[in-house]
Amino acid sequence: MSGTANRFKVGDIEIIVVSDGQAKMKGTEYFPLSTPETWEPHKALLDDEGFYTFPFTCFVIRSGDKMVLIDTGLGPVKGDTFHGGDLMGELAAAGVKPSEIDSVFITHLHVDHIGSAALRDENKELQIAFPNATYRWTSAEQDYWAGELPPQQVARRDIFEAVAPRWEAANGGASLAPGVDVYWMPGHTPGHAGVVVSSGTDRAFILGDAVSCPAQITETEWSGAGDVDPALARAGQEAAMRELEGTTALVRGNHFPGLSFGRVLRGEGKRYWQAV
Ligand SMILES: [Zn+2]
Repeated sequence: MSGTANRFKVGDIEIIVVSDGQAKMKGTEYFPLSTPETWEPHKALLDDEGFYTFPFTCFVIRSGDKMVLIDTGLGPVKGDTFHGGDLMGELAAAGVKPSEIDSVFITHLHVDHIGSAALRDENKELQIAFPNATYRWTSAEQDYWAGELPPQQVARRDIFEAVAPRWEAANGGASLAPGVDVYWMPGHTPGHAGVVVSSGTDRAFILGDAVSCPAQITETEWSGAGDVDPALARAGQEAAMRELEGTTALVRGNHFPGLSFGRVLRGEGKRYWQAV
């Protein structure tokens, strides 16, 4: 996958959607409460063997003279199931230089979101990947990962340490650039947040992993295997979907298929997401 950037306009703001790579998981493992039967209406999202392929989406947002990067993917990890490390090449192909990024906002500190925040140089030393950027996430997220973690949470402490001198808190409502604001959606992790982009009457919502697959917009009781507080995650998801349903707002979760935004619609008594 090279040079696949997808561009969207939100009023005067441009969003460039790129991917750092992708992973593959069985749909029923990704959502332990789902079954092959309940996947049936969503089977277009799965391959013949029932696997869901999800990208590690990153978003470049150009607002006025500011450039913000949302999330950095998995980084250079090449496995059979998880494959990352495409971000820098994708940015170059889209004409974005790392030095142009003013701030990097990370929705939450899971390995598939912070992986390219710092990269190893030829001497194998970790260096900040975006040399002029401030690195931002919520203070609740910072506190969670700085504390004692449950064994299933894998922390990239090496990356946290590399970017620590550049970190600045960005909590719910914080402005990352004109028209680019942090949207508080905890539950997937205790400090998880999305981003809302607004210009004129146009809006776009980057959901991070608050909703990790479009099927969850219809199957609201499915919780992702990685949710730290599933009930809180579902409540936030429901509140956001109620606000977005039937509007022209562009919506995308990081792990939605392809590199497209979509809209939240209702038909035949069900809420669903449709790519634009
Ligand atoms: Zn993720």
